[in-house]
Amino acid sequence: MRFASLGSGSKGNCLVAEAAGSRVLIDCGLSPRETARRLGRLGLAPADIHAVLVTHEHDDHAGHAYAFAALHGVPVHLTHGTRRAQEAAGRSADGVALRVIEGREPFAVGAIRVEPFTVPHDAREPVQFVLGDGARRLGVLTDLGASTSHVEQTLSGCDALVLETNHDLELLWGGDYPKWLKERIAGPFGHLDNGCAERLLAALDRSRLQHVIAAHLSHQNNRAELARAALARALGCEEDWVGIATQEEGFGWRELKSN
Ligand SMILES: [Zn+2]
Ligand SMILES: [Zn+2]
Repeated sequence: MRFASLGSGSKGNCLVAEAAGSRVLIDCGLSPRETARRLGRLGLAPADIHAVLVTHEHDDHAGHAYAFAALHGVPVHLTHGTRRAQEAAGRSADGVALRVIEGREPFAVGAIRVEPFTVPHDAREPVQFVLGDGARRLGVLTDLGASTSHVEQTLSGCDALVLETNHDLELLWGGDYPKWLKERIAGPFGHLDNGCAERLLAALDRSRLQHVIAAHLSHQNNRAELARAALARALGCEEDWVGIATQEEGFGWRELKSN
């Protein structure tokens, strides 16, 4: 099993995972043309993708999911609430095969086992996903206001984690965002700051981790070195072992070895 990111952050998120010839995207917040271009960077084409899994309706995750899916004949998996919110946002599902999922019910896309899990975030019915191939599990968590015991149980024992480190609290509060926006971001349905991500990671069973990648960093309110340092503290590892998912580059293929 392997995975890569096409881009991560408030301007668009998209992650690709592959197991035994099956491939899924988690979210599609980049235009279809840009998604295709970045898939090409990873040696893939849109025709190689078997499903798009959407975490929630925010633009940076779902903004282009239907357009990509319609263009390439790929089904979209999403919760009932996300589907309704897409509708309310005026995104047409014409020509898109929609698969409505339950927030806690695993399903399969070819060889990939998908475990959705529910999260507190300011969207209609947001989920995040753990992807597995039967032997290895990749946990992806990009939009979370606060950790919960359900989140910690689900992510414990994963072989790889892509974890939100959205902001540094001091940079956020000292920055020039309006007060309401700062409160939204730092609130219980907003985004995870470096310190909360560190505590979340520290609370997990980390014994199997082969990769940890900090994701969804705010351009204004975070720095890669702060995010890295926070996750490295929880892991007790060198800071440069922790990967960073960037807005423009995402990150390249990471392999999950089955020893
Ligand atoms: Zn969001
Ligand atoms: Zn987001």
